[in-house]
Amino acid sequence: MKDLKHLIYFENLLQEADNELVKEAEAEGQKCIGTQCSQVPEVLINLPGSFSVRLFAPRTGSIDIGTYYMTSLTCEYCRAVLERALEGGYQFLDAFIDPCACSQHTDLADNIEQLEACTKPGFFMLHMDTPMKSDTNGINHMYNQCKKELLPAMASMGIDTSDDALRKAVDQFNEMCRLLKEIGDHRKADNPNITGYEYYVLCLATYVCPKDKIMDKLRETAEELKTREPDPDAGKKYRARILLAGSEVDDVNFIKTIEDSGALIVADRFCFGTFPDREEIVLNDEEDVLFQICRDAVIKCQCPRYMNTDRILERKQYIDRLAKEYNADGIIVQQMKFCNFWGYERADYQHVLPNEYGWPVLSIDRAYSSGASGQLRTRVQAFIESLEIKKINKKKGVVNA
Ligand code: SF4
Ligand code: SF4
Repeated sequence: MKDLKHLIYFENLLQEADNELVKEAEAEGQKCIGTQCSQVPEVLINLPGSFSVRLFAPRTGSIDIGTYYMTSLTCEYCRAVLERALEGGYQFLDAFIDPCACSQHTDLADNIEQLEACTKPGFFMLHMDTPMKSDTNGINHMYNQCKKELLPAMASMGIDTSDDALRKAVDQFNEMCRLLKEIGDHRKADNPNITGYEYYVLCLATYVCPKDKIMDKLRETAEELKTREPDPDAGKKYRARILLAGSEVDDVNFIKTIEDSGALIVADRFCFGTFPDREEIVLNDEEDVLFQICRDAVIKCQCPRYMNTDRILERKQYIDRLAKEYNADGIIVQQMKFCNFWGYERADYQHVLPNEYGWPVLSIDRAYSSGASGQLRTRVQAFIESLEIKKINKKKGVVNA
């Protein structure tokens, strides 16, 4: 396929947390808010005059110092981010909003605070208390947290937190979601004209860059895809279509390795992917805007920390629906080592998705930066072969193929 015009530009933005667009926005006086989890409603930290960055640690090598402070039994994402923070990698932050969503997040945020790793004048850390249940109490709890903690913290930086400002932030967010959906929907085609790798370069950029600064290039990319010819040899290269689920994927080379092994990623359900975090927020004119945003965040969220039974069951239905919608052949569930939430969720998917929904599932645990793993390649290749055997048997009419 002809190269996407802006792919290298977007790839370069993922090389540094403090990328050129972050620097540009800061120079304009915009406030930069870091967070490590989508439990903080994203539009509320992207109000006019501010932008959010999802903290990540590109090109991670050693995480020895992070491990020293957090022990080797915590997830590598948190250790890698702490390591980067202690190297001075997030000095551009004006604030860090910690949703206290998992204990390792909180440990990371506490260490950053105690070790004074972010020293920009005026920098502050806000620890929120986000709900563990996605029900009416959970929605009200999120609303109170945002009204009493998050919005006052934003206002303390001179940010407009009026209803008009909230609506503007939602409008901008929705436009970005529509563009990503338009781009991502090309993967529904039998022979898609965009690879999973290309798509996730764009998708990750929407989390780590000021959104207003990438919209033009996202629009151009959506336009470009309307006429981009797919690779005629893609059928030989990609032998299976996969939905990828699980922990946060900050390393797009992880996707590349899976695709180089022969499995095209056509849909996702991992933290900081498309679903549900890049789905539009629908507002009405009657109810309180902040309440609607909080309700949307809690109801839409597919995080495994939500413990109510209906949500535990619904998460599998959600994956089943997505996998069907994007014509997947199978599902890969990956969990960052030592992540408790995705540890039990992965075990659950591994059992329920094949037995109750009929999906072939490959279940793996992985390191934070695991792009070039030979073991990953071998396991994906074996999974693809099993999918191919299944298809052949089905054609032959073998029972339980
Ligand atoms: S699983 Fe994802 S959404 Fe849930 S707490 Fe962890 S990072 Fe946040
Ligand atoms: S991978 Fe798991 S343990 Fe690590 S930050 Fe995400 S939810 Fe927490």
